[in-house]
Amino acid sequence: MGGPDGQITRFVIAGGGSAGWITAAVLARILPGTAASITLVESEDIGIIGVGEATVPLIGQLNALLGIHEPDFVAATNGTFKLGIEFVDWGEKGNHHFHGFGDFGDNIAGLPPHQYWLRLQEKGPIAPLGEWSMPWAAARRDRFAPPQAMKGEAAQFRHAYHFDAALYAAYLRRIAEASDVTRVEGRIHEAVRDRETGLVSHLLLDGGRSIEGDVFIDCTGFASLLLGQAMNVPFRDWSAWLPCDRAAAVPSSRSGRLTPFTRSTARSAGWQWRIPLQTRTGNGHVYASRFISDDEAVAQLLTGIDGEPLAEPRLLHFTPGCRERFWEGNVIGIGLAAGFLEPLESTAIQLIQTGVLRILDFLPKAHPDPALAAEYNRQTALEYERIRDFIIAHYCRSRRNEPLWREVATMDLPDTLAHKLAVWDACGSIPLYDLESHQEPSWVSILVGQGVLPHSHNPRIRMIPEEQLRPVMEQRRQFLAQAAERMPMHDYFISRTCAAPQAA
Ligand SMILES: Cc1cc2nc3c(=O)[nH]c(=O)nc-3n(C[C@H](O)[C@H](O)[C@H](O)COP(=O)(O)OP(=O)(O)OC[C@H]3O[C@@H](n4cnc5c(N)ncnc54)[C@H](O)[C@@H]3O)c2cc1C
Repeated sequence: MGGPDGQITRFVIAGGGSAGWITAAVLARILPGTAASITLVESEDIGIIGVGEATVPLIGQLNALLGIHEPDFVAATNGTFKLGIEFVDWGEKGNHHFHGFGDFGDNIAGLPPHQYWLRLQEKGPIAPLGEWSMPWAAARRDRFAPPQAMKGEAAQFRHAYHFDAALYAAYLRRIAEASDVTRVEGRIHEAVRDRETGLVSHLLLDGGRSIEGDVFIDCTGFASLLLGQAMNVPFRDWSAWLPCDRAAAVPSSRSGRLTPFTRSTARSAGWQWRIPLQTRTGNGHVYASRFISDDEAVAQLLTGIDGEPLAEPRLLHFTPGCRERFWEGNVIGIGLAAGFLEPLESTAIQLIQTGVLRILDFLPKAHPDPALAAEYNRQTALEYERIRDFIIAHYCRSRRNEPLWREVATMDLPDTLAHKLAVWDACGSIPLYDLESHQEPSWVSILVGQGVLPHSHNPRIRMIPEEQLRPVMEQRRQFLAQAAERMPMHDYFISRTCAAPQAA
């Protein structure tokens, strides 16, 4: 890689939230200083969005790439460990299930175990499918140990983190600045385009300073100053499928044991998150403003928190969806500047991570190549659409009867999702497409968990007689429960390995 006339490529990153600092840290880690210079412009006056406290296991690869030492990272970000998401009241009031970061065990005679569970539950009472999931076996007991400390099937899970979003951005900033990323403090007034080429030539800051570059990465959050405003790339609005458009967020004092999972509780016009950190709990109510007022939404939020509120609730507005293109000319949007899907499955930081790595895949030379930009756009759009479908699947089969829930239960679905659900209904399998973030066990967790059972299952399961199958299934369930009992309690594990300074 090299810039015009053999110079190094000048990357300019606009914005210093998680998107900006992840991008800066990854580019600096991978590209040698002889190939690239990296400048990040941010404005302390504007600040960052500061929510985004739950992640998915893919973040482990990002941390490994950046040379992050897990105990140091968890301590510095007031972090805790996450084994999945507990869903409360989603299928209907009283419904309870868990989307864990793992599967339901090895295939039996070539078929996934949920197929056997479907058959056995037809014959009579059986434990919930979640009891065949190692993450749930540990999470329901508030226990945690990393998979490498476990053996055999008890090691078949992954983990992610909860953390303080502001501490996370600061942590990444330290890593990036130690790798020669130059930070410029200033408010961007305009991204200026070259009249002939249409490419962005420089950022003009308030006060007249200008920052020139070859490739501009837009990490300016919902403002989308470069991709949305300067390059005029339209927004694909998905609110017809995802009606939630607001969130109210409030921290509360820590109470009770530290749960190693996020909790998501369905509400009359949306859902509420609970994210445990070492010294406090993050809470938020994501809701559809067509069905509830802000005041009512805040009141619902406050009745649903444990511990005392530590601040005034903060309101955030958003439109679900993403840009029609993510890479236009020499501008690439990452993070909220590129798109936003409600945080039900904590996928925003994942999309930042995959976006940055994809930039490296498709930018082998200094000058963006239109064919490579088109491929970047194709893959990124698919990734967003797959996650969108997975989030809609949490809503569209619910039997709750408030107006929001009745609307989402009867709406037309995206074709991709309608096909998936039709196949599930018919035979209990989930067809997977390219660039899926969520594999079959994730879909099964949500559908079976909500009580959305298929009409039939795979007839090949009859190859194993029921009297042989039951003991095999029961043995695994008990093995997982016993393995989980041997794990340390989550709060004990943290206090021994990665206590935050403020928790001491
Ligand atoms: C309610 C809610 C809950 C969420 N929960 C989760 C979650 O649990 N998990 C998850 O992964 N994600 C979550 N997210 C998403 C997550 O917050 C973001 O994806 C992530 O923080 C990245 O944000 P960002 O860096 O794109 O934008 P921001 O944090 O908004 O950063 C934008 C940056 O651009 C700068 N900037 C903007 N305009 C200018 C200007 N004119 N001049 C100079 N600088 C400028 C700002 O100063 C800031 O540095 C949530 C989001 C919302 C709204």
